Amino acid sequence: MTRLDELPLRADLRGQHPYGAPQLDVPVRLNTNENPHPPSPELAAEIGAAAAAAAAGLNRYPDREATALRADLAAYLSARSGAELRPEQVWAANGSNEILQQLLQAFGGPGRRAMGFEPSYSMHRLLAMGTATAWVPGRRDAAAFGLDASDAVEQVRRQRPDVVLVCSPNNPTGTALDRAVVEAVYDAAPGVVVVDEAYAEFSHRPSVLDLLAGRPRLVVTRTMSKAFALAGARVGYLAADPAVVDAVRLVRLPYHLSALTQAAARAALARADELLATVEAVKAERDRIVDGLRALGLDVVDSDANFVLFGRFDDQAAVWQALLDRGVLVRDVGLAGWLRVTAGTHDEVDAFLEATRDGIGSW
Ligand SMILES: *Cc1c(COP(=O)(O)O)cnc(C)c1O
Repeated sequence: MTRLDELPLRADLRGQHPYGAPQLDVPVRLNTNENPHPPSPELAAEIGAAAAAAAAGLNRYPDREATALRADLAAYLSARSGAELRPEQVWAANGSNEILQQLLQAFGGPGRRAMGFEPSYSMHRLLAMGTATAWVPGRRDAAAFGLDASDAVEQVRRQRPDVVLVCSPNNPTGTALDRAVVEAVYDAAPGVVVVDEAYAEFSHRPSVLDLLAGRPRLVVTRTMSKAFALAGARVGYLAADPAVVDAVRLVRLPYHLSALTQAAARAALARADELLATVEAVKAERDRIVDGLRALGLDVVDSDANFVLFGRFDDQAAVWQALLDRGVLVRDVGLAGWLRVTAGTHDEVDAFLEATRDGIGSW
């Protein structure tokens, strides 16, 4: 067996570990912010039929431009946000992680720097590393994990990064940002500003999609993995000026999005109302988690997403293990004192709250 460190690996990848939450087969899995409600049998059959139709043409490469899917996504975004988005402003890929990677390939890269406001989605930093983009760790306020416009602007002015990544609602804290922060960061930033709206559908704050007009360096990324309950299909997308789409075309792999994925995504989008109907139920469970944990005397960060950050623990890894021992898998995001739990079904949330109540005396 060859060990990894015996290979001629890039120096900056040496000693690193692959990203990923443990995929454990336990009864209650609340660790990756998925929607706990699977597609209905009818919708699953429709997605299957669409995939079967696409399969009949799999001898040919897929539409490299994903034209029909991008038109559907533009129509979906326009209908929900009130912003008028054209298909040329939308780009799709295998999850928004691939979208973010393409953006960093095009606008970051060797000699360039990307900045995020931490704690935030750790993939932003890892994607920067993978694209040889230097990472600049910006900061949120330590008390409530918020970020106000003047603080963000000050950090951006000082660092002048080529790419700024802003996550709203922010993973893992759940904090949604005021749009004024995005406007101010855009005005202060010399380069591209990416707003990661993976959890936008859960938020009480409106999307910043309507800020795209007249802001060619602004990019909004979205995903079908969370509210849309389609994490397994791997579909993410962006909305921006058409020139940004032209830029990511320079770095995307040819035929990156399979015909099966495009067909499945379109079938799901055709039933967007049905898929998003679970959002209110998920938010209700999120609020039940917040109330339940506060009633236990724990610290809980206000959440605008489908997950909750809670603490504080002297040893969050031990609490993570104790919950796992009770059959409940939550996420240790590596933030000292805190754990993150996803809003699951009513029964899953009951199980989580019970396990926490059970264990709390000993933590
Ligand atoms: C889950 C998540 C994503 C989505 O990843 P996909 O590749 O679309 O599944 C993107 N950004 C954030 C902040 C997330 O939490």
